[in-house]
Amino acid sequence: MSDLQELYQSVILDHNRKPRNFGELPSASHQADGRNPLCGDEVHVALIVDEADTIVDVKFTGHGCAISKASASLMTAAVKGKSRSEAEELFSRFHALVLGQDPDEGKSLGQLVVFSGVSRFPVRVKCASLAWHTLKAALESGATDVVAVPAVSTE
Ligand code: ZN
Repeated sequence: MSDLQELYQSVILDHNRKPRNFGELPSASHQADGRNPLCGDEVHVALIVDEADTIVDVKFTGHGCAISKASASLMTAAVKGKSRSEAEELFSRFHALVLGQDPDEGKSLGQLVVFSGVSRFPVRVKCASLAWHTLKAALESGATDVVAVPAVSTE
């Protein structure tokens, strides 16, 4: 493993042990549940989106493997304070990264770059993208309904 991959690994383990923005968000305006049956990962993402379409707060709960928890933690840190369209743009870039299709391999994606190695482990792509699919479902729910995300595809 290269030094860079070791660094990325340690960031993922740190976010797994001490997830950021973990907990309930009782006044959520949008929320969704996501499941990755292949690995057993489950995540609940709750957001407060204001009238200007800014994600003013985001929290998650759930359980799963280290990659899925670290990804949810880093996702919440990445989208907090962003507009809905900025968050959707980040999701498409992150999705490309974990599929190994990001042209600069995540170098302009901040801390999310730690997931660049996931593309070499196809079974882990679903773990890494679960929280993002759930975020997208929450943003699209347009209400406080709890919606289940269908099995995440690797496409
Ligand atoms: Zn997993």
